[in-house]
Amino acid sequence: MRVLIAEDDQVLADGLLRSLRGSGFAADHVANGSQADAALASHEFDLVILDLGLPRLHGLEVLRKLRARGSSVPVLILTAADSVEQRVRGLDLGADDYMAKPFALQELEARVRALTRRGLGTAGTILRHGPLGFDASGRVCYINEQMIELSARELSLLEVLLQRAGRLVSKDQLVERLCEWGEEVSNNAIEVYVHRLRKKIEQGPIRIATVRGLGYCLEKIPA
Ligand code: CA
Repeated sequence: MRVLIAEDDQVLADGLLRSLRGSGFAADHVANGSQADAALASHEFDLVILDLGLPRLHGLEVLRKLRARGSSVPVLILTAADSVEQRVRGLDLGADDYMAKPFALQELEARVRALTRRGLGTAGTILRHGPLGFDASGRVCYINEQMIELSARELSLLEVLLQRAGRLVSKDQLVERLCEWGEEVSNNAIEVYVHRLRKKIEQGPIRIATVRGLGYCLEKIPA
């Protein structure tokens, strides 16, 4: 799960980054509206946390352009407490939820969980493939209802593979979805994460097949 935070208040942005990364998200940060617009036009995100009062390009304009490109990524807008008008305008332009500043980080985290669930299109919170279950809100993995200990990065990797179970996921797609900007994560690093994840989940009829030169595919081994 990859989240973009567009917020010019550095202290708030740092708090959001810490909190989201602690919950296992890959989180990127931009501090002005034109950077947010450029990031959204060129990368795939699972959620956007968008401050409306941004320098260079107003948050509402970032949102308008995003929806005009046909993107349906969930957007949570952050507004000043007294700006009812902007909030309404944001929702009219296609924001999915809002929070008025100041807010409790815990409440924001709960809303982020709800929005990312909605983005996945899962009514419940459990992704399944054979004996493998993934609880997207609690961020835990089960095999035959038994919890498996996975690192935050392994969980994110498994989540991407599960969302496209039975289909090819390229290494580039994994790098794109899992890695944050400025972090050197190579295709080799992806191989290491896949190797670790395999050791933990390939005990039943599930395997992560390597499609040589192309990527990976989460498969059920036929009985
Ligand atoms: Ca601001």
